[in-house]
Amino acid sequence: MKLEQLDTPALFVDLDVLESNLEAMQQRINKLGVKLRPHTKAHKIPALAQMQIDRGASGICVAKLGEAEVMAAGRIKDILITTPIAGETKYQKLIDLKLRHPKITLIQVIDSKEHVLAIGNMAKNAGVTIPLIIEVESGQQRCGLDADEGLIALIKLINSTAGVSYEGIQAYSGHLQHTKGYEQRNKVARAAVKDVFEFIENELTEDDLRPSIISGGGTGTFEAYQGLSYTEIQAGSYIFMDNAYQKIGDEHQNDINQQFGIALKVLTSVISHPKPNRAVVDAGTKCLSIDMGVAEVESHPDIMYQSGGDEHGILHLPSTHCPELKLGQKLIMHPSHCDTTLHNFNQLVGVRNGEVVTTWQIEGRGRSD
Ligand code: PLP
Ligand code: MN
Repeated sequence: MKLEQLDTPALFVDLDVLESNLEAMQQRINKLGVKLRPHTKAHKIPALAQMQIDRGASGICVAKLGEAEVMAAGRIKDILITTPIAGETKYQKLIDLKLRHPKITLIQVIDSKEHVLAIGNMAKNAGVTIPLIIEVESGQQRCGLDADEGLIALIKLINSTAGVSYEGIQAYSGHLQHTKGYEQRNKVARAAVKDVFEFIENELTEDDLRPSIISGGGTGTFEAYQGLSYTEIQAGSYIFMDNAYQKIGDEHQNDINQQFGIALKVLTSVISHPKPNRAVVDAGTKCLSIDMGVAEVESHPDIMYQSGGDEHGILHLPSTHCPELKLGQKLIMHPSHCDTTLHNFNQLVGVRNGEVVTTWQIEGRGRSD
């Protein structure tokens, strides 16, 4: 089947670009001498996680326990849950997952004494041990405790609590990933974690305090930390890319990132053309997310997309646009933000040279639990 024959709106991925993105990131990470633990919140599909592992990734990240369940069921064996969890239901779910898959490595990020005591207690009663990574404040002021005496106390608590083990540190600066310009981005990213690494190097020197894993970095900042002792990089969006990420620049250009190409796209149809300068497509905000700006129309830089609500996308055509769009005509959209666009769809279609070659269920879709 040809791409244009798909019913719309449809989420698809250009497989040549996806594979080139996978290779490019793995090669760059290899050059840095660290591991790649890709964040799979971008795609939520075990088969794509396996493609990343087949190319050299050491394991994966997930944002939520629900995603971890999907990935474990999809035979992914090394999973880091990068968001703290809280409450008895969640702790039980974590332990149940470990009991269902006793052989996999399942690491949970935490940032407080309560996490350690509650997970430790329930894990001990269930006869399992949950490895923990402590999130430290890295400039975003989201989760994470400060790298100071409190961090040492928490590590010691983990070491003395049955049912949990101390694995390392997460230092992730999400707020800096989209900083414009390669040099500027690397500079602010390093500065944001400078104190954290000084503390790790000067204070966490004893064997039982030293982190085995130091995890962080994303598609924007993966090359920012050379010389710092990160052991693994958590980049996620690079697999698909999106407009917001393309505009951050790379080492060659300040406003376009050429290392990774736009692989994730949405096929949409013109459903109405009420005025010469206005057409409407069947992809609104329930297809193309607008939290990071609006989508762009492939091959039509002169057409401006605007959300027309949940189900409609409005296209503003310049008076010079010629020929007019036709009803039923299919257009390809480049999403502004891959994560929040993907999450609107049940399926991802794989396309090569304009032909549909595969379809994946987005198994982790809706699993924000
Ligand atoms: N690590 C954490 C903790 C994240 O929250 C995210 C994304 O939000 C990533 C890694 C991946 O970042 P990106 O998709 O920007 O590569
Ligand atoms: Mn994102």
